[in-house]
Amino acid sequence: MQDSILVSVHRGTGAGIIVNGQVFLGHNRNVGEIGHIQIDPLGEQCQCGNFGCLETVAANPAIVKRVRTLIEQGYESTLALKEHITIEDVCSHALNGDELAKQSLVRVGNQLGKAIAITINLFNPQKVIIAGDITMAKDILFPAIRRNVENQSLTTFHSDLPIVASEIDKQPTMGAFAMIKRAMLNGVLLQKLLED
Ligand SMILES: [Zn+2]
Repeated sequence: MQDSILVSVHRGTGAGIIVNGQVFLGHNRNVGEIGHIQIDPLGEQCQCGNFGCLETVAANPAIVKRVRTLIEQGYESTLALKEHITIEDVCSHALNGDELAKQSLVRVGNQLGKAIAITINLFNPQKVIIAGDITMAKDILFPAIRRNVENQSLTTFHSDLPIVASEIDKQPTMGAFAMIKRAMLNGVLLQKLLED
């Protein structure tokens, strides 16, 4: 894969970019801050100080927090019985048909899709890889991502574009986020990761 984009959803939202087979590192090796693309001008405040960044919606703590808030507001969910809700719980309950969990992940997919559409228009990649625990619920998440990518990026750029889940998260020893961090210091690693 010559040009690929890896989007990672963990405690935050990050991206790795491969252009012409090389990791695009940017100034001071800071690049791929996809998490701070504004997807909602009236959204919640982000840790960066701005409002409505992607990371305020599409990161594990934000997803769990929103589910908890909706339950506290009285929305019904099979998750209401749980004292401690994790991102894995949200995914498994969504897959088991819990409407609140499902709609929460569709919302994440919609917003991720919008931000990914922007990066597709900028880089015209050959492949988009999504990493993170939320890919457990990829049957719910990916159609929402795809729909937004198709609505908001150029047709010639997305028509044959694979959007796939990273296999890396199945290796328990190292999360994709840690791999991206390391890859930023060692371009070869990220290239290997993007070949999967
Ligand atoms: Zn931000």
